Amino acid sequence: MKKIDYQKQGEWIQGHGMLQSPILLDPSNSSKSSQEIIEYTSPLIGQKLIDKKNNLGIESDGTIKANGRMFSLNEVHFHLNAEHQLKYESRPRALEMHFVFQDMLEEKLVVGVTFIIGNTNETIERLLSGMDSEFKLERNVNLSSLVPMDGNYYWYSGSLTTPPLTEGVEWIVYDQPLTISNGQLEHYRRFYFEKNARSTQPTNGRKIYLI
Ligand SMILES: [Zn+2]
Repeated sequence: MKKIDYQKQGEWIQGHGMLQSPILLDPSNSSKSSQEIIEYTSPLIGQKLIDKKNNLGIESDGTIKANGRMFSLNEVHFHLNAEHQLKYESRPRALEMHFVFQDMLEEKLVVGVTFIIGNTNETIERLLSGMDSEFKLERNVNLSSLVPMDGNYYWYSGSLTTPPLTEGVEWIVYDQPLTISNGQLEHYRRFYFEKNARSTQPTNGRKIYLI
């Protein structure tokens, strides 16, 4: 796995399409809808930690149904600080977790969950202690507790946020953050000190739903 240079993200190739991610999420510029489009059809289970050089990855399993399509969870990983930003907040949230799903045609859907500093997060604690034990998990970790299942979310069409920045990725980004403690964030930063957050990209008039 090759380390990505976030200082040179302006030079990343293929990042100049019209549907790039992340974006600035603006509730006043989003279409409100009460029509639920996602359903978690099985628990999301983290099986194996992966050192992705820039960040922590987790080989994972689980399913989601989105707009009638079934997707399977492949990988979960983190971004320091959060990549998606909220229009009404003056600075990025501390951390963003991406649940990367794929359907049978290998089309991707990513669920983004952000974290702010607050109470200790028990599930994150288990991941951190796995990192301390040479990236080995004692047993599988239930990652479903890291999704605010009944929270509101933004839904839009975007891209991967790392090269090759492929478009055609469906995004679900939860509005409501979860918390980790300051000590937990420092613990994570002992392994991954450098930021790995791509800058927000132009929305180019994209339709963004708030559900
Ligand atoms: Zn990501």
